[in-house]
Amino acid sequence: MNILIKSKLIKSSRIKRLAAIILRFLDGRLDARGLENELIRLYDRQGEARTSAPPWRPANAVSMDGRNPASNASMDGRNPHQPTNLNVIPGSTRNPASNASMDGRVTHRSETFQKVKKLITQRYPLRSPADLRPDQLEAYADTVAARASAMENLDEYRKRGTQYVQVKAIMDGRTTTICRSMHNRVFALQDALEMNEKQELLAQPNSFWEGNQYFAQTPTPEIDRAWMPPYHYNCRSRVVPFIQPRTDAEAAILKHENLVPLKEKDIQAIVDYAGTLDFADAAKKTEHFSKHRDELKVRSEEEMMLKLMQLLENPLKKMGLAVSARDNKLNLYVWDPKEVDGKHEFIVFALDTRCVKTYYMKTEADIEKNFSEANIKASILTGKHVKKGAKMVDELDVKHYEYIIDYFKNDDSCDELEMFSRLRFDEEWEGIPEHLKKRILAVDKIVLERFHSILDYPTFNKYIACIRARVKREESKHE
Ligand SMILES: [Zn+2]
Repeated sequence: MNILIKSKLIKSSRIKRLAAIILRFLDGRLDARGLENELIRLYDRQGEARTSAPPWRPANAVSMDGRNPASNASMDGRNPHQPTNLNVIPGSTRNPASNASMDGRVTHRSETFQKVKKLITQRYPLRSPADLRPDQLEAYADTVAARASAMENLDEYRKRGTQYVQVKAIMDGRTTTICRSMHNRVFALQDALEMNEKQELLAQPNSFWEGNQYFAQTPTPEIDRAWMPPYHYNCRSRVVPFIQPRTDAEAAILKHENLVPLKEKDIQAIVDYAGTLDFADAAKKTEHFSKHRDELKVRSEEEMMLKLMQLLENPLKKMGLAVSARDNKLNLYVWDPKEVDGKHEFIVFALDTRCVKTYYMKTEADIEKNFSEANIKASILTGKHVKKGAKMVDELDVKHYEYIIDYFKNDDSCDELEMFSRLRFDEEWEGIPEHLKKRILAVDKIVLERFHSILDYPTFNKYIACIRARVKREESKHE
């Protein structure tokens, strides 16, 4: 087996075993001595000594951490009647840090073991069993184990000479806002080590749990300190050694994700990169062309792409970057400051999935929502003064909204843009002509019938609540 995969497997099974040990300690099945024994078994025999020490023990060798092999030979967990010493200060000279058992096997009392024990018994102890319900207890144990694992990884990176680390979230429908905003953040290893040492206690009174899934010291997208995962219960984010970006565009995107203001050349690198992108596939491009050819005033797909490129090359264009909460993808939004019938040419590039998402006519109020409504790491790169003023809802707006049915059917994240538009329609509802209201409500009803639960995140939920309330109000009017 590949060594890297093997070491990952050992680690993932270790974190599960650690969580099980912590759970048994928390619910009283293990006492302090039992905990120590279990940890020794996990970290000394399964852990570092086994993976990093030679399988033999040379006579008079210096132990792994450079200290002399100590004489006490009992800490491998097979002998629970030996006195254990839970009160020792980790790393102090009073604490023999390693020892060899009689059969010559290394039973190294590692630094990691000491730190993990301290984590469980001192940093994150329960005040009383009444602090947590049984299901919370399990989540709590998993989270302490995740913290221990992060600590172990950071220690390992330090030994390898890593200087910077990067947070990686697993991006899918379950990703939390915190993890989305921490994703790709880069921190100096030294800061990460320090923060990991002092991050918030996990034990919280019952009142804390009500309606609060996060820690008290909740990281926000604006944070400038090296917060380390886990960020909340059941967090899947982890920390990895930072690898330098390979291209100027990647470097610029990384800057954006780390909240560093972009310079002119960074923005240009992103624009140059966007210029290499096309629709996801030929069918998507053809479909897009047939839907939007009239409003874009183009006669062929080639002409559509040419016009798109012209907008991208327009020195007066406006631009913004944001991570959409819909699919956790980073988008580049480009639009023409020139207004035609109240709308602007508007392109969305999916930078992560490397394609053109859409290109059509939108009001600036709708475009602006991409930088305010439940999107994170959002910033407008040029033309900061976006007009918010109300715009009449017209035929084209409604036609675009009707496409949301297709988007939902195809799980196409362009649906989000239409959700934003629909939210705006509601703000301007009284001014919308009756025949357009009817078309909007017809779409609303289909969505409520068939798609009301296909997604679950703030913008979608707000959208569903909005159209449900509107449909109800309109129906009561006609009763
Ligand atoms: Zn998380």
